[in-house]
Order: sequence, then C-alpha cells, then structure tokens
Amino acid sequence: LRDERSIVERLRRSASIPAGSAIILGIGDDCAIYRPRGSADDMLFTSDLIVEGVHFLRGSHKPADLGRKALTRSLSDIAAMGGTPRFCQMALCVPPWAGARWVDAFLDGIVQLAAATGAVLAGGDLSQGDKLVCDVTVGGTVPRGTALRRDGARPGNHIYTSGWLGGSALGLETGRGRAWKRHLKPEARLALGEFLRKELRATSAIDLSDGLSQDLNRLCLASGVGAEITEPPAFAGATREQALHGGEDYELLFTVRRHAKVPAYFRELPLTRIGSIVNHDPGSSGAEVRLNGRLLPPNGYVRFFTISGAPMP
Ligand SMILES: [Mg+2]
Repeated sequence: LRDERSIVERLRRSASIPAGSAIILGIGDDCAIYRPRGSADDMLFTSDLIVEGVHFLRGSHKPADLGRKALTRSLSDIAAMGGTPRFCQMALCVPPWAGARWVDAFLDGIVQLAAATGAVLAGGDLSQGDKLVCDVTVGGTVPRGTALRRDGARPGNHIYTSGWLGGSALGLETGRGRAWKRHLKPEARLALGEFLRKELRATSAIDLSDGLSQDLNRLCLASGVGAEITEPPAFAGATREQALHGGEDYELLFTVRRHAKVPAYFRELPLTRIGSIVNHDPGSSGAEVRLNGRLLPPNGYVRFFTISGAPMP
C-alpha cells in the first residue's frame, strides 16, 4: 500500500495549477486558497474524511460526538490558516448497522457544531454502503493575503504550540478519564487561529492532527527550514512518546518572529515555546527536526494503517 505522502506528491505533480488560476495555494497546506478577483477576502477550502475501521471503530463514539469530530477535523484546518468558517458540505455513506436514531444523532452533532461555528451546512450527498464514511468540506474566509501558511517559517523564528500534547493518544490507549474525553471531543482552535493571524502575526501555522513530529516536519518541509525543539508540554499522564508522536490533538503549532510578544495563555490555553526554526541542513534529504540536539523522525499517526478508536468504556 502506498503511503499518503507519495500519493499526495504524485497528485501535486499531475494536477499542477494553471497560470492565471485564482487558486493561489493548492495541494500541500491545511487549506487551499482561492482569491476572487477584487475581493477583500481570500477563500479557504478543506476536506477531511473519517472512515469506520480507520479513524474510529463502530461503537467507539457516541454518534453526536462522531458527527462533531467529522466537522472538527476540517474546522481545525481553517483554524490553522487563521480563517473564519463560513459553510460546510457533508457527504455521508450510511452502513446497515447505523439505524435512523444513530444517523439522526450523528447529523445533529454536525449541525449543532456547524451552527455554533458559523459553518452553515450548505449541502452534501448521501449514500448507503458497507461502512460508515463521512467527508466534510469546509469553506472559510480570511482577509486577502493574511492566511497563515505552512511555508512562512524562517530561521530565527520561535516555535510554539498551544495546549498539552498526547492527550488524544493517551485516551485512545486507556479508553477512560479526561484523556478519553479529549480523544472523543476535540475542539478546533478557531479563536486562537484568528488571534495568531491578527494579533501575533504568526509567520506560519499548522494544526496538530497527525502528531508533533509529523506535523512539524511538514511545516519545515513546506518552509525549507529545520527546527530545534525541546520536550513539548505533555497532557497529564501522557508519555513522552505520546506527546511527541500522538495524533488528533488538534492544537495549533505556529512560528513567530523572534521579538513577537506571545502571552503565556490565550484564554485557558497555554502557549508554550518549544524551540526555534533553524537553517535547513543542505546535507540532509528531508526536513530536519531535532529534539534536544538529536534527529526526531516523523513517526506520527500514519493514516491508512492506524485504527483510531477504542471501545466505549
Ligand atoms: Mg491540518
């Protein structure tokens, strides 16, 4: 089976953006950016898929929580660009095991979160099939030219993360307590993303969907830089490995100019400096992330191979 990265790379080469297109950022960031002529805003688009047996197991989530999570994954990508969600569309494949009550509760979960975040449900598609599959596309806006991208990190920038990492991975392992709740009910950091764009003028950002080691590596690759970090803030009870590599925390990882005044907290969320962006080492093939001086390979959550979801406690 080919991995996600090689498929994405192939697509990026074969679906190149034609000259004159209003798509100013295509495959390879949290969202694509479309720039309507004469508009004060750029438009953001992102899609995320959840698949039974890959992202969750049947019975692992209450239906409303799963609906919320399906939308949260895309909202988190809008947050990572500093954007404001405006609408969403949902394509849902309903398996025989999901009865009318289950489906209603799932849809209520999506619709309520959509209403709470301004991501008006504006359409979609329904089908029947063997497994539950749900794809959510979110469209958002950001003032023209101000989207936070992965490719803006520069040597000397400071690297920060929001929140505590590894909680979702810990919850997946234990199936109980605050960590399990963290896994079931992640939140998209939309207000933080807006703060990073407007107040801190972050130079780059990415949401931590696949684990710090993986997502920081992606940010470095996009920016053509390296990173030197120390231990990130770990969720209570999470191991060092979970904090470094665990997926689905949906915190924001971002970089700022050296003199930016980053508060210790944004609302209840700690903002912790974990390191600095450095020059890319021309001798290394990929991006280089170093933890306490030693190479940190991107061992994050690898989609296609990982079962996410534990039985309901
Ligand atoms: Mg993302």
